[in-house]
Amino acid sequence: MHGAKPLFYLLRRGSAPGSLDRALLAQAQAAGVEVRFNDRVTATSGNMILAGGPRRADIIAVGYVFDTAMPDGAWLAFGPELAPKGYAYLLVNEGRGTVASCIFTGFRDQAHYLAATVSYFERHAGLQMQNARGFGGFGNVRLPRTAMQGGNPVIGEHAGFQDALAGFGLRYAMRTGQLAAESLVRGTDYSRAWRQSLQPGLSAGVVNRFMFNRTGARGLDYLIGKLGANDTRSVLATAYRLSFTKRLVLPLARFRYREPLKDRSCDHVACDCVWCQHGLHDPSGV
Ligand SMILES: Cc1cc2nc3c(=O)[nH]c(=O)nc-3n(C[C@H](O)[C@H](O)[C@H](O)COP(=O)(O)OP(=O)(O)OC[C@H]3O[C@@H](n4cnc5c(N)ncnc54)[C@H](O)[C@@H]3O)c2cc1C
Repeated sequence: MHGAKPLFYLLRRGSAPGSLDRALLAQAQAAGVEVRFNDRVTATSGNMILAGGPRRADIIAVGYVFDTAMPDGAWLAFGPELAPKGYAYLLVNEGRGTVASCIFTGFRDQAHYLAATVSYFERHAGLQMQNARGFGGFGNVRLPRTAMQGGNPVIGEHAGFQDALAGFGLRYAMRTGQLAAESLVRGTDYSRAWRQSLQPGLSAGVVNRFMFNRTGARGLDYLIGKLGANDTRSVLATAYRLSFTKRLVLPLARFRYREPLKDRSCDHVACDCVWCQHGLHDPSGV
């Protein structure tokens, strides 16, 4: 892949110094916000913004972060043997790396897909891991109608704001957070604001996901060829434009795009899911 401008930015998550989360915490505290850790909110009251993150697992990401001597690079791989309906990636930057399989269905076999992903990148990209630490996470995708609950604005993944094709929600979380705050401070209409600025891209993502779900091996080859032959950023920008054709497909896509995400593969028998639609795991299998 190539392009005139950066295709993405690498950032670190978590509690380590230099991470996005640390930077946001520092900004909030500098602005006078009181932050309480390990203090779960159990009831809503007036003037609240609901920001509790994903409520269910439509997407699961499993992987490792590690130290490495291998050169910097970014690799992306598609295929049902690595990440069903999703993608696998390897990112290396200045001696630190992350490798993961993002699966959109078949959650029960996540350990198998992760092992296949590691082996694939070892063969094709020279992956070398030292001090590998495993991680897992989940996300949910939903195109909300209002993103209001009990009169309170709901932001980020709690509302389902996430790109339905790739499962990216960082920008959506920050953008909806800003719009929700403005609605409380300035009295603007939150639902109208996010619909105006974010709904077209979210809707295009839903159509993209609907189409990707139906893409077989040949279709994937075509897409990869297209991404590589042109400025990748421009190809993706076009893909996220809510064109006339996409508008036509949207009602059907909206109805059907989540079908493969309703994963029924987990029966709790010898299961090592990160989390799944059955909710918190109960070994009794209820
Ligand atoms: C492995 C992985 C890789 C990802 N990679 C990317 C990427 O490359 N690009 C991208 O854009 N997105 C990515 N995402 C998605 C992105 O992380 C999320 O979309 C984004 O973090 C959502 O932000 P949020 O604030 O809505 O929710 P979260 O980041 O989930 O934050 C919600 C917070 O609320 C807390 N909380 C929940 N309930 C309560 C309660 N009752 N009281 C108090 N606190 C509560 C939770 O503990 C959590 O800290 C990735 C996700 C995963 C799992």
